Amino acid sequence: MSAYEFNQIGVVGAGTMGMGIALLLALHGFPVVLVDREKSILQMALVRILERTNPELRREVEERIAITVIPERLKACDFVIETVYENEEAKREILTLLGGICREDTVIASNTSAISISSLAESLPDPTRFLGMHFMNPPTAMKLVEVVRGEKTADATVRAITGLTEQLGKVPVVIRDTPGFVANRLLFAQVGEALRLLESGVAAKEDIDTVMKLGLNHPLGPFELADFIGLDVCRSIMAYLRETLADKHYQPGDILEKLVREGKLGRKTGEGFYRYGK
Ligand code: NAD
Repeated sequence: MSAYEFNQIGVVGAGTMGMGIALLLALHGFPVVLVDREKSILQMALVRILERTNPELRREVEERIAITVIPERLKACDFVIETVYENEEAKREILTLLGGICREDTVIASNTSAISISSLAESLPDPTRFLGMHFMNPPTAMKLVEVVRGEKTADATVRAITGLTEQLGKVPVVIRDTPGFVANRLLFAQVGEALRLLESGVAAKEDIDTVMKLGLNHPLGPFELADFIGLDVCRSIMAYLRETLADKHYQPGDILEKLVREGKLGRKTGEGFYRYGK
């Protein structure tokens, strides 16, 4: 199987990541079927995608992205990536649906940030054609894709997705399945420690971010990065890692829980650890 067999690609979930992945695919010439639960979400997603597109390419991108609330339209796709909420039940539900819709030769991936690929694979009739394809945010700009091999993922599936990743101008790193993979195991251990430092009054959030930027040359501090990712997504990832790894470093903690309860989810809602102008 080679990447060139992927003609039409499905993206399920038109949120932060679904929009970015659909744009990246369209910019590389792939016809995309973008699915979400509500028409209004899809219409807004398309507006946002086009706003981020170079004006000269807008027409092509618009022609390549078909939006729909009808998941059955994914039957035409050779590859489908799910990027719905970071919640195991929600992902299992969508994968079960895809298992019933997609053709037997369709490769299916999850863009999960942390959830075990081998465990999600149980929702599908053919786990050999399933794997993790973990794009970083924003997918158009970030070079890395973690390609996560579940216990039953076939070599041909890994080859097809590493090939596609390269075709999209990205660098694939193949990883054996483990909660949080590599990027988020390391990132959220750091975010967890940053939260503990903040909670214990050691330093202000601005100062912790400055230490990481000027002292360790990180482009964003942990709180700025968490706002960029989305605090609800961060909370879900940390709670999952806390539970599966039984490691207190990943405890979301009171400050993060409170912000999520108040709907202050970071850049996407205009406020998180910081406030953002519209
Ligand atoms: P988001 O909340 O912005 O978007 C999720 C979208 O999924 C929403 O538009 C929602 O309407 C849709 N959805 C939910 N259930 C659905 C269903 N049954 N059918 C169709 N659509 C459905 O979330 P996000 O930040 O885009 O994250 C999506 C996934 O990508 C998560 O697994 C997350 O962990 C992962 N991820 C996120 C980031 C990040 O920085 N935000 C980075 C890498 C990976």
